[in-house]
This record gives sequence, C-alpha cells and structure tokens, in this order.
Amino acid sequence: MKLPQIDLHLHLDGSLDPKLSYELAKERNLIEDETYEQFEKRMIAPADITHLHEYLQCFDLPITLLQDFKALKISSENLVERLAKQGVDYAEIRFAPQSHTKKFLTQEDALRAVISGVRDAVVRFPQIEINIILCMMIAADVKDNHEANMETIRIAKKYLHNGVVAIDLAGAEGLTPMENYRPYFEHAAYMGIPFTIHAGESGPAEHVACAIDFGAKRIGHGGHCLEDEKVIEKVLENNVTLEMCPTSNIHCKNQPSYAKHALKPLYERHVRTTINTDNMTLSHVTLADEYEHVLKEMHLEVKDILNMAEYAIEASFASNDKKNSVKRKIAQCRKELDGK
Ligand SMILES: [Zn+2]
Repeated sequence: MKLPQIDLHLHLDGSLDPKLSYELAKERNLIEDETYEQFEKRMIAPADITHLHEYLQCFDLPITLLQDFKALKISSENLVERLAKQGVDYAEIRFAPQSHTKKFLTQEDALRAVISGVRDAVVRFPQIEINIILCMMIAADVKDNHEANMETIRIAKKYLHNGVVAIDLAGAEGLTPMENYRPYFEHAAYMGIPFTIHAGESGPAEHVACAIDFGAKRIGHGGHCLEDEKVIEKVLENNVTLEMCPTSNIHCKNQPSYAKHALKPLYERHVRTTINTDNMTLSHVTLADEYEHVLKEMHLEVKDILNMAEYAIEASFASNDKKNSVKRKIAQCRKELDGK
C-alpha cells in the first residue's frame, strides 16, 4: 500500500544532499584535502550528542555553504527532487533567511533563491507540492537579532501565498524566555501571517502553552506537553496540531527512545499528532523510515499513520487541490485496509 506522505516540518539546511554539498563546498574553496567520506560524516550529526544545543552546532557547515544564490537555489531544487522521488505528496520546507546573509545576500535574496529552486523542481516533478515557512531565530537576547526577525516577518508578508505560507521561531529553545517573542507573533497575526512555533522540543510543557497563547495552531515538536495534563488539555481544546519528529527528537536526547516517545501517548489522547522528519540529512532519516519506526517500535498501526496523515494535510497550508487529492489517497488506503 502506498501511504500518503506529508512532511510539515522539514529544515532545508538540515536536509542537504551530501554529494551535492561536497561539490558546492569544493567550488567555493571551503575544503582543502578533505575526502568525500570525511565531509559526509560532518553532514550527519553524531549519535553521541547530549543536547539540542550541540545538535544545532551541526548546522554550521550547511549554513556556511548556503551563502550565495546559486548554492541556495540548487540545494532547494535538489531537496524537492529527492522528496518527489521518495514519493512525498506535500512538504513544507522551512529555513531562516537571516542565516544566509553572512556574505552578500539579503534575506529577500535568500528567499528568492529558495523559491526559484523549488519552482524549477516542481515544474519537473508536478506530483509534489511544496510551500515555504520562514524561521525567525531565537537569540541570547531578543535585541540581538530584532531587526533580522522583523525583516523575516516583512518578507513573509511580501511573499505570502507566493511561495511562503507561514513563519516560525527556531533555534535554541529556552535561550531566551519564550514570552519575549510574543510581540513578534502579535505583529505577524496583525499582518495576517500564519505561524507555527518550535516549542516543547527541548523545553518544558509551559513553552507549548505559551505558544498556544500567542495564537499558534501548530507547534513544532511539542513532545514535552505530555508532562503537564493542563497543557495537554489546552492543546486539545485549541485543536492544535503537533509536528512531531521522532528520530530527530531521539537523536537530540529530547525523547528517550521510539518506544517511549511522546507521539504514541499523545496520539492515543486524541492530540492531533503528525509524523515529520525535521532534518533528513543531519538525522539521516526519511518519512518512510519514520513510518517504519512508528509501526515497528511504537507499535502503532497503518490505520494510525493514515489518521496522522489526515491530521497533517488538514493542518497544512496546501492548496485545496492537494488537500483533496491527499484525502482521496487516504480514503483509498482505508478501503484497501478494510478489504483485508
Ligand atoms: Zn525543527
């Protein structure tokens, strides 16, 4: 059975193709005598990471690579091509434009490069639909990148429904109190920009509650809400969808194992949980791999994956045509299951 694949939480910089990146790095004189094997190792986060903050350092290499239009465009195009070949129906690719302004690009240049790469790929692989989410970044002090985060909101508004569908807040959760980001989301809401927020990934349940107070209908990860009954109730009352990424969570030590991951108990409480990859390269995972973990290690069933795919497409920013086609695919899979 061909299961529908919807990835709502996928970071561009964590999902680069190592071979292409090696070529781009050589072209840009970023490596001297490093072999491909050594380089590839640096693209995948080591298994002995102890904290999310350590995992985040693994983004340094991809970010260094993606500082010009061509690198961003080709890498985005290549990512969409790989997703299409994996059989992904719909994905929302996110990235932080402010991370790509270390040389001569503006945030808007970076966004135009990604949009251009995505569009070229979708022309070649029309079966997949892609939208883009722009991440604001958490800094040690909100003042450190206030202008950059405001610029991200500005370009999100400018390109809304023209490639971009939402904004996000990413980076080291807890580095700055979540509450300090309230004005940004109030501003985004005022501008009519939808948003999703990383919360309850490495941080506590109260971050999830805080993100819901900001107006988030989707939360990146959110696994730690399981620790507080009141927060679970808040998630349920507000019909919030959690973009969960099992392998990445375990990799970053935010969840103990697949068997003990928060996804299953939350799903069983009727929380709208969804299955996503987060960082395909850094965490060496595909959506099909995640489905296998959910089936074999969490002991959920195909019907559960279909329910979560339905939650995902309902919470997505996909076109109505794509939503309808994915729903038809889900209905077809359910029919096949019933026939067994
Ligand atoms: Zn993420």
